Amino acid sequence: MKIGFIGLGNMGAPMAANLASAGHDVVGFDTMAKPDGLTMAGTAAAAVDGADVVITMLPNGDILRAVAADIHPAMKAGAVHLDCSTVDVASARAVAEMAETAGLTAVDAPVSGGIGGAAGGTLTFMAGGTEAGFATVSPLFDIMGQKAVHCGPAGNGQAAKICNNMILGVTMIATCEAFVLADKLGLDRQAMFDVVSTSSGYSWSMNAYCPAPGVGPQSPADNDYTPGFAADLMLKDLRLSQMAAEAADADTPMGEAAMALYQRFVEHEDGAGRDFSAMLPRFADRGRNAG
Ligand code: NAD
Repeated sequence: MKIGFIGLGNMGAPMAANLASAGHDVVGFDTMAKPDGLTMAGTAAAAVDGADVVITMLPNGDILRAVAADIHPAMKAGAVHLDCSTVDVASARAVAEMAETAGLTAVDAPVSGGIGGAAGGTLTFMAGGTEAGFATVSPLFDIMGQKAVHCGPAGNGQAAKICNNMILGVTMIATCEAFVLADKLGLDRQAMFDVVSTSSGYSWSMNAYCPAPGVGPQSPADNDYTPGFAADLMLKDLRLSQMAAEAADADTPMGEAAMALYQRFVEHEDGAGRDFSAMLPRFADRGRNAG
């Protein structure tokens, strides 16, 4: 396939490299990044010229909307705009409408798996859009990832992503505060892990990504909380979940509390640039009335 790829940062560059290595004809564009070994165009419109599929991997919904307005008129009729960024549901649905008006097909397919998954071609894609759009880009999901789930119409990929990450943020906080309570009750962290990881408190946060150093499988906690999945990105996703909850009138008190905690951690404490599991030392350093 002829593929235009816009947004070649931490995630986009390795994803584009995997598509090119698999034999696709990839032309990239980025306002800042200049990744080695990839054919680059001078403008976004030039990158999408004649492409069967255009992939975007951008920071947020406003940038996505601006890029879509720029590239849709330059895309070939019937081409697919596959957006893999994490953005708000409303932007994903607006871009799908713009695409339809321009005679194009849109698929929103945010990812989980992070930079390691992008480099290794092991991402999970959560896709929204038509059956036909999903079928067209499925071979590309197979190269860039290990699993793709079609979640329904436009915007549903983003909906799935933020619901998943809202659960993740809440369970990570719950796991971290439980470890600190266990510490203060004199319960050994290894014993805590051995019980919870095989009992009804188990979760991905405890079993696969244990926030306590030296306990459970290797995780960012064993590397001084170097990300991994940065607290800043968790805050972004929790904010998107609360924007969506507000728009849909959904009652999400735990998601709201998790957003407020990560906001404090990232913006007013030492959470910026640390892994999201660094909530554990944050709680450990405070007493009950620390505010
Ligand atoms: P990044 O900041 O490294 O990359 C974004 C790229 O977009 C940058 O290179 C930037 O120059 C480029 N860009 C910005 N505006 C542009 C424009 N108008 N035209 C062309 N290029 C433009 O971010 P990233 O870590 O690669 O993340 C990309 C997306 O993937 C985000 O939506 C993020 O939330 C999501 N995501 C990231 C991770 C992760 O672990 N990094 C995991 C899952 C999802």
